Amino acid sequence: MNILAIGAHPDDIELGCGGMLVRAARSGHQIYMCTVTRGAASGDPNERTQELFKSAKFMGAKGVTIGDFQDTKLTVDNELINFLESCINKADPDIILTHFHGDIHHDHRAVSTATQEAARFNSNVLAYEIPLTRNFEPKVYYDISDVIDDKIELIRIYWSQRSKLYTKANAIKSLAEFRALQSRLNTSINYVEAFDVLKLCLDKEFKLQKVPYENVQMGEPHMASVPLDPADEIMPHQMAER
Ligand SMILES: [Zn+2]
Repeated sequence: MNILAIGAHPDDIELGCGGMLVRAARSGHQIYMCTVTRGAASGDPNERTQELFKSAKFMGAKGVTIGDFQDTKLTVDNELINFLESCINKADPDIILTHFHGDIHHDHRAVSTATQEAARFNSNVLAYEIPLTRNFEPKVYYDISDVIDDKIELIRIYWSQRSKLYTKANAIKSLAEFRALQSRLNTSINYVEAFDVLKLCLDKEFKLQKVPYENVQMGEPHMASVPLDPADEIMPHQMAER
């Protein structure tokens, strides 16, 4: 499967779904990362960009894209939606992972909303949480027990962010432990990443389905069969582009 993870800042993806991505890459899935800003509001953007590339390499990502949008200034506009759409087109994902729409950081909320629009033709979109996310109601649980140390290692790559409490190993582990307990899956499952569902399509075998996008060819617009009164105004046919 192709998996595309989207985040507003370097380190968001790792905090939200780093465990899933490491595990998926090891299982032979193709991982793509798309980060919208270089995180200039919380450190040197060059250093943070390098950390992102290092993290992508560590997890075995097949592709990583970083945008040059301004940190803390994201809004849901055409530019952001088009950028995400280009990342989606490059990755051709079976599943997209993005921010939770109710996250406390407005950049995260903007990316979540923009992803939903950019991914309108994609079949499967999940939203991840980070340790600071509130009011999050998990719908999907993913076992990361065998890669929890790798997830912590991934976050450690972001040395520039080491003073932030939510990047500490105990913050990462506590949340994953809580979600494991809450999932009530099995006593051998000690660490879990949780996701909200924005969109999910299943096939007849109940496996994730990737429905190919069909470019519908539109015929000639319906022509009136009676002559129009010259006074009538003919409105141009509005094609919804998204
Ligand atoms: Zn962030």
